[in-house]
Amino acid sequence: MSLIHHYQSPNFDERPNHQCLDLIIIHYTGMEKVKEALTRLCDPLAKVSAHYLIDQKGQCYQLVDDQKRAWHAGVSYWQGIRDINGISLGIELDNGGHDGGLPFFLEPQIQALLSLLTCLSQKYHINKKKIIGHSDIAPLRKMDPGELFPWLTLHQHGFGLWPTSTPQQAVPQSIRDVQKILRIIGYDCPLNGIIDHQTEAVIRAFQRHFTPTEITGTLTSQLKDTLSCFEA
Ligand SMILES: [Zn+2]
Repeated sequence: MSLIHHYQSPNFDERPNHQCLDLIIIHYTGMEKVKEALTRLCDPLAKVSAHYLIDQKGQCYQLVDDQKRAWHAGVSYWQGIRDINGISLGIELDNGGHDGGLPFFLEPQIQALLSLLTCLSQKYHINKKKIIGHSDIAPLRKMDPGELFPWLTLHQHGFGLWPTSTPQQAVPQSIRDVQKILRIIGYDCPLNGIIDHQTEAVIRAFQRHFTPTEITGTLTSQLKDTLSCFEA
């Protein structure tokens, strides 16, 4: 992969004892220029960071040592864990995001990301499926890396979660059954049989990731069919 440039962000602390690296979280910077993003991620007043930043040309910057707890996830949840920063590595992609008109991710950047994921998953024995987006772990607050992020390309290289091509379980019919599967996948979804604010946000996050052409926050047949193609 491209040479890694080292920057030093002060925005990190120690990982809690005995917690191993278990997740990789993908972000977009949501800023116009990579220089602005680097400045912000290294600004002690901003109190945010990530382990890596990849620019649009595929150049990779390391900002926080892998062993340290970078501050990229914020209030979040996945598969029963709330201290996502404590168990994860954060990768920022230089991309203007929703506020910047949702630009496409370009090939050199995604190639560099794939190289970095290969390297990190091997080095730390991270399950290759355990690569998710910021919006998956913070559906009420975050939309990154956004619906244009190429999760399918990652899947074709063996990375990330993806539905199987044939159903693994019955197509869920009730709201409660939909909530149940979303919770098993890892989302912070209530189990109350109603589409409340949180459930709607979780459905949107799921759709943004797995059915990016249909982001409704409602129970559609595509949503139900896709959910049935996850392990029970
Ligand atoms: Zn983010």
